[in-house]
Amino acid sequence: MTQMLPPGSTIGILGGGQLGRMTALAAARLGYRCIVFSPEADSVAAEVSAGHVRGDYADSAALARFAAQVDVVTYEFENVPEAAVAECLRHRPVRPGVRPIHVAQHRLREKEFFRAAGIGTADYQAISSMADIAAATALPGILKTCTDGYDGKGQVRVSNRTELAAAWDRIGRRDCILEGLVDFLCEISAIVARGADGTTRCFPIGLNEHRDGILRTTTVPSGLPAGTLSTAERYGAQVAASLDLVGLVAVEMFVTKDGSVLANEMAPRPHNSGHWTIDACVTSQFEQLVRAICGLPLGAVDVLAPSRMLNLIGDEADGWHRFLEEPSARLHLYGKGQARPGRKMGHVTYVQLPGGHRPA
Ligand code: AMP
Repeated sequence: MTQMLPPGSTIGILGGGQLGRMTALAAARLGYRCIVFSPEADSVAAEVSAGHVRGDYADSAALARFAAQVDVVTYEFENVPEAAVAECLRHRPVRPGVRPIHVAQHRLREKEFFRAAGIGTADYQAISSMADIAAATALPGILKTCTDGYDGKGQVRVSNRTELAAAWDRIGRRDCILEGLVDFLCEISAIVARGADGTTRCFPIGLNEHRDGILRTTTVPSGLPAGTLSTAERYGAQVAASLDLVGLVAVEMFVTKDGSVLANEMAPRPHNSGHWTIDACVTSQFEQLVRAICGLPLGAVDVLAPSRMLNLIGDEADGWHRFLEEPSARLHLYGKGQARPGRKMGHVTYVQLPGGHRPA
């Protein structure tokens, strides 16, 4: 049984980005302090936290210094090196733990995990040699590097073995996975919290639209049939339970034209597609993470109002004034100095106001 960490305790966050920032803000509301560990000096999470330990993820002395100052450790991105998480675990509890990132950091392991948990995926095969390419059948498909890919990076669409061989060469002959192209109706995500006592709670399923491989909008309610939603929720809960995690996990899924649900990838942390929960759900995903890792009861996940979250990418955040003028728009800016193409600078959640307009 996990010991409860009462308000006043300190949460350590590995990673200094916007997910850590929003976690720290939610933690502060419940009376917790956060200390961020990250290599960069200008962490947007550290900016709103009680402390910042700046260090490299390979620096075990710095990690030990960080761990000594906190009561529990969590992480805000799944590509934090596994060894850094294991180092923290030598000193303090780490939730959701080492195994969730071990699985989530590697696309092949992740797909194998989904299948073993009884969850459908696209057809896939490992691509690590010319022999694998000669035997490839998941075509047309998408070649993805097993590690270090996110937001559509490290991915190439291929329609035959010749293109596959050329793409694998361009990728530097790294370990890859070839996934059959899914002709999906839509994309959705299940964000599930699992408490210290094994209770799971799934946020209402969001309908996600991507552009250039990056999430563009999430809409809740999704408008999908109840059967599809309950399958997605069940898959989310199965993932959380199979990983035996305490914390949050987001599972991104495809809904195919025949109504089946296929898992694409997962992230054992708060997720961009759950940002709407800050403004339109009884409990936000960030508060839910704090509750789970501190051994508190999980919060209710009822929707307060229909909403649509829009990511502000690159210079789109320069339009902040316009969003402030819209009554139904709730603006969140991450305080990042420089807008670069593809960089997530903030988001807006359009919330249906009582008696007002539906979200734009
Ligand atoms: P990922 O990095 O795996 O989340 O992929 C980014 C986006 O590429 C997804 O959200 C989908 O829009 C698209 N995508 C990824 N894998 C597939 C697939 N097997 N079939 C069709 N589209 C995909």
